[in-house]
Amino acid sequence: MINGKSLVAGEWLGSSESFHNAPSSGEPDTFSKGTPEMVDQACKAAEEAFWSFGYSAASERAAFLRAVADEIDALGDEITEIGVKETGLPEARLQGERGRTVGQLRLFADHVEAGDYLDRRHDVALPDRAPLPRPDIRMMQRPLGPVGVFGASNFPLAFSSAGGDTAAALAAGCPVVVKGHPAHPGVSDLISQAFDAAIKKTGVHPGVFSQVQDGGFAVGEALVKHPLIRAIGFTGSLRAGRALFDMCAARPEPIPFFGELGSTNPMFVMPAAMANRGEAIAQGWAGSLTMGAGQFCTNPGIAVVIDGPEVAPFVEAATTALEDVAAQTMLTDGIADAYRSGSDVVQNAGATETLVASTGDGRNALPHLHATTAAAWMADPALQDEVFGPLGIVVRAKDVSEARDLAASLHGQLTCTLHVDDADASDAQRLMPVLERKAGRVLANGFPTGVEVSEAMVHGGPYPASTNFGATSVGTLSIRRFLRPVCYQNMPDALLPPEIKG
Ligand code: NAP
Repeated sequence: MINGKSLVAGEWLGSSESFHNAPSSGEPDTFSKGTPEMVDQACKAAEEAFWSFGYSAASERAAFLRAVADEIDALGDEITEIGVKETGLPEARLQGERGRTVGQLRLFADHVEAGDYLDRRHDVALPDRAPLPRPDIRMMQRPLGPVGVFGASNFPLAFSSAGGDTAAALAAGCPVVVKGHPAHPGVSDLISQAFDAAIKKTGVHPGVFSQVQDGGFAVGEALVKHPLIRAIGFTGSLRAGRALFDMCAARPEPIPFFGELGSTNPMFVMPAAMANRGEAIAQGWAGSLTMGAGQFCTNPGIAVVIDGPEVAPFVEAATTALEDVAAQTMLTDGIADAYRSGSDVVQNAGATETLVASTGDGRNALPHLHATTAAAWMADPALQDEVFGPLGIVVRAKDVSEARDLAASLHGQLTCTLHVDDADASDAQRLMPVLERKAGRVLANGFPTGVEVSEAMVHGGPYPASTNFGATSVGTLSIRRFLRPVCYQNMPDALLPPEIKG
């Protein structure tokens, strides 16, 4: 059952003001608004918790992560029910996302227990080295301290309160203060309950996890500016991400802002692949583009094709497939409005031909498909912007050289995709160095939606795909965002952390 308050250091706190969720169906629920004072209390408790949690054994943190996963599983059906109501996402999607979320928590538990993430290094002392002896030098990764996390609207579980940022930070030893997303306060509430139960069962300090429900920008600002917060994890829009990133940089003591922002995820279809299987690629593209109403940061919004007679069946197949897609509920009214205005911008861009222009109303979205030339696309910066929703643009390049020019003009991307057959090898080899510079993940003969949570995954990329191109927000490597290397020189064994003694 929903509690309706914020969980701050083991206490459920309410305030004098309330807000409602905006369910896609059913009656709204009431929640007490979060406040900057709650953020302050949560950050102070997180700092206090760091003195035990930040220095705890990996096995203790792993036990806590597994306990949180078990508690989320125990609340499974209730989470799905409120999640469907708040987000309009289908039941199966929310069940799958819960599986991913608990899987992530358990993966990080295994990862810290394995210990490789510490990246331990040891330069053995060389007392007889001339002209100067070398001291004993050791290095390992240590947790940063309290981390602020912003829940994302489009993944109410896997990128939200107990999502990837939270799991990675806790695994590293960093207490977390979450700012709940207003699109799904009910899901956030139940996740807080799971944390509360896991904290009580494992006996970790209650300041290890707090979640302050939405209370407007003042709550997010208080979190980003709090002097005890050492880093921020964020998934959302470029506009909000940039504002918060700038706020982090402008602090008296700047802190890292790990923002995963927008991306158009271009897909390049090479000539032989187009000739051999253009229609199948088009159908797969339409499926990827409309999955979850297109509300994925890896949504492949642009298909770059090399112009020629083989392109017509591709365009026809994409058009037919998209015309067949029924209206889907978007996450919020605001996101549906933003989709419609983004679609208008593309539709009104001078050189764009409209192939599918469906209109949705209220919170509904229908697909859009447009076509333009590479020259026109490169000339209009507005066409580079992410339209969050099921909108695709076919961009016709004269030849592979022009496709390469277009790739070189791209902003940073989370992903770039190549559709390539054997006969395309030399063309694709010309594109690869450019795509690799632009994206965190380059994939072949598939679609970028569906991000595997694994050891080798990179979900990041040059700005604006992310604000830190050396990092990923998915997969075990994401723990590195919340660690910093500390060097111990000539340190007596008794003073060394247990993980690096001996
Ligand atoms: P958002 O606008 O990016 O907001 C995310 C969070 O940041 C919210 O909690 C919001 O607070 C907070 N925030 C925004 N600006 C702030 C500021 N100046 N100071 C303090 N806090 C601030 O994301 P959204 O509401 O989920 O969706 C809006 C658009 O974001 C979508 O239409 C889509 O274009 C994009 N989006 C992209 C991705 C992606 O994966 N790239 C994911 C989700 C959304 P409030 O709660 O007070 O509003």
